[in-house]
Order: sequence, then C-alpha cells, then structure tokens
Amino acid sequence: MNFQDLDFKSDRAALVRHQQVYPSSSGLRMKFLIKLLLVATAIILLGFSASSWQPAAKGADSTRKSSRLHYSLELPELIDSILDDSEAAQALSAADDNAWEIVTIKSGDTLASIFSSAGIPAATTHQIAGLNEHTKSLRYIKPGQKIHLLLDDQNRLRQMKYVPDITKTLSVRRNEDQSFSSQILNYQLDAFPVFREGVIETSLFEAAAEGNISETIVMELANIFGWDIDFSLDIRRGDRFGVVYNELYKDGVKIRDGRILAAEFVNNGRLYKAVYYTDPKGDGDYFDEFGKSMRKAFLRSPVKFARVSSRFSNKRWHPVLSKWRSHKGVDYAAARGTPVRASGDGKITFVGTKGGYGRAIFIQHGGRYTTVYGHLNGYARGVVRGKRVKQGQIIGYVGSSGLASGPHLHYEFRVNGVHRNPLTVSLPEAKPVHPSYQEHFKRNTRAYLSMLELMDTTLAENTS
Ligand SMILES: [Zn+2]
Repeated sequence: MNFQDLDFKSDRAALVRHQQVYPSSSGLRMKFLIKLLLVATAIILLGFSASSWQPAAKGADSTRKSSRLHYSLELPELIDSILDDSEAAQALSAADDNAWEIVTIKSGDTLASIFSSAGIPAATTHQIAGLNEHTKSLRYIKPGQKIHLLLDDQNRLRQMKYVPDITKTLSVRRNEDQSFSSQILNYQLDAFPVFREGVIETSLFEAAAEGNISETIVMELANIFGWDIDFSLDIRRGDRFGVVYNELYKDGVKIRDGRILAAEFVNNGRLYKAVYYTDPKGDGDYFDEFGKSMRKAFLRSPVKFARVSSRFSNKRWHPVLSKWRSHKGVDYAAARGTPVRASGDGKITFVGTKGGYGRAIFIQHGGRYTTVYGHLNGYARGVVRGKRVKQGQIIGYVGSSGLASGPHLHYEFRVNGVHRNPLTVSLPEAKPVHPSYQEHFKRNTRAYLSMLELMDTTLAENTS
C-alpha cells in the first residue's frame, strides 16, 4: 500500500489501483518523512507553534488557533492511458478552449439525448458508448456533471471530455482513420497536512468548529477514541485535543479532508494518543504510541453522542412501574430513530419483543459476553436471529417500546451471564501491532508522534 493511498476511501479503490507511474513506496515514504521532520524543525526554529498551540483565546484571530503547513507531496500525476503523457497533454490542449461546447447533465439526460441535441449522429453515439471499458462510464452520467464536446465544421465529433468526478477525466477523440480512442486522466489530489486543536468549553462539536475542524474529522476523532472515552458522558470542560490530518486539494482548491494521521485527546487530565499505521501487508488501523490497538473488542457506548439518562444501579425508582427496582444497564436518551450500533462483533441470539425491554436485540460475543439493546423503535434490515454482526454495525433504532417513559436505549453488558456496568466494565482489547512489525511501526509512525509531542511541549510551555 502506498502512502498516498491513505487518503482515498474505498470509493477511490479503482483510482489507486492504476499505479504504473508511481515511484517505489519506500522512496516516497522516506521523502515524506524527511519533509515532515524538516517541517517540525522549522516550527521550532520559527517559534511558529508557540502562538498556534496556545489554548484558544476568546475573540482572538481564529487563524491563530490552527497552524497550516502547506507543502506539496510532489505526487506524480496518475496516467492510466492508452496514450503516452505527451500525447495526452496534446489531446487535451489540441483545440481552442472557446470552441468547446460544455453541456451540464440534467436529470433524465443520456449520452444519446445529449449527442442528439448537439446534432451528433446516433452512429457516433453507438461507436463511443461501445468503444471500451473507459466509455462504459458514460452509461452512468449523473445530473450536474459536465460533458465537453468539440465538433468540426461538419458537426462531426472531434473530441469529447467527461468529468465523472474531480479526480478523473475521460477523454475521447477521433483518429485520422475516423475511429475513436479514449483515455482516462487520473488526477492525484495534493495532500497538505494540517495541525489543528481545540479546547472544549461546551461541546466537542463547538470546540471543533471554533478550531476550524470539519464535522467529518470530529466524527473520525470520536471513532478513534470512542473505545476509551465515552463522548456522551466523559467530556469535561477544559478537555483538549490535537489532530494531524491531510487536507486534499486539486489545483489549489480544497476538495475534502483526508484521513487523520495522528491525534491526541486529553480527557479529564488523562492523555490518549493515536497514530495511523499501515503494516507491510497493507492493513491499516489506529494504534497508540506503543502499538497497542485503539480498538477494544467493544465500543463503550452503542449510541453516538447520546446523553446517559440513567445509570447502572442495584436500586432505583422506576418511573413507569412507580416502584424501586434495580437497573441492570445504562439508559441513553436520544431522539427516536437514532441508530443503535452493535458494540462488538458477535452473533444475534434474539430479536423480538421481550417484556419490559419492548423490542429488543441480544448479541452474543464470543463465549463470555452478551449485550442487550432494549426499547427499540425498530430493527435494521437483515438483523435476524443467528446473523453475525460487526462492531459498529447499525442493528436498530432508538424508541420507547416496552416499559419506557420516553425514547431511549436500554443497554446491558453481561459477562458470563452476570450484569456488569457498561460504563465501567473493563473491556477486552483488540490485537496490537504484530511483534515482527514493531520496528516497521516505530519507523513509520515516528514523525507523526513527534508532531504530537511538539504540540504537547509548546502547550506546556505556554501554559506553565
Ligand atoms: Zn434502562
């Protein structure tokens, strides 16, 4: 797996598979590490982060709260083409830009209807649609996308371009023998690592917004640390976080955020760190600085960002039954319909209505653990008895079925059949970095971890 692949989610799989023109991944990675270290050194020399990492002063210039270190990774442009680079360049710049007709695809449009409107004969449409694998994508054009057409003076199609997404252009042109040839130009997005931080005054989302951090990154941050920190319950005023992630650009325009490369979270005075690591087999995940997995076998909470409305206790006043009863689980108040996730990999042992639980799901995890989800509004599709579920998979939706005064999830965690407090039970952990990869892990995560350390140091200096 190449370093730059990190920023492409699964929908980019097709793109990153074409890698004929890439330099070796180790060379690229080394280059990147050296740059990171240079950048880190630069920060120290310039005292750059001294202002950037100070806890956000209210009303201060918001740009001071995040430092942006832009440098190009100098990624090669990906060319997957039947033509060579120079021909490709010619193909796209062959004609005067003004001569191009640009059609924005509307709902209901097909290649045939667009060509027909442009006066291009149906025979040409067939010729192009059936040309090869590349032009198959023209069957799936979507409203809002653009098709560029270049016609000659006899209204014959000389060349066309279709831009299915920002990272790709399909180009088709007429050859001298009147046949057509196609090429796909793949554009690699430029990745610029950014350092951002937030100090929580009211909520994680607000702190992130203040620090100019997108919701996507916040959700990812919550996913990474969600094993150790219950974001519904544990967040305190004064908690802070730092995050290093890539922003992805094309031609100087930001397209989206990339993956989090490293992050830390100080919760209630306790520091948690995570770094992304891809092992030599290409498997990537988040680990702490010692190579311990950030994942546990269980999520601490099956509902994201919900409020704990009732805790585990041996005795409590039951609002519906109007009598004292023990509460063998935790209640998470959330809007009706909020997704409920399986807290760990396991097998569904019960789906249905069960007394006071109302609509409930029971999941068996390995031999020892059972989790229970009650008062559901409904079940997710495919959730049936005997079915295996993955951790984090949506299994149902918050409701108020059974004995419930309002919409909430009743969640139980049982170990060997004994009810345990889901908020405090010690959770079994996922596998660490394999011992034979320890050296590789250290080499490949050092730069990111140094960045986090740098943040810590500057923060300590600024607050002492
Ligand atoms: Zn309950």
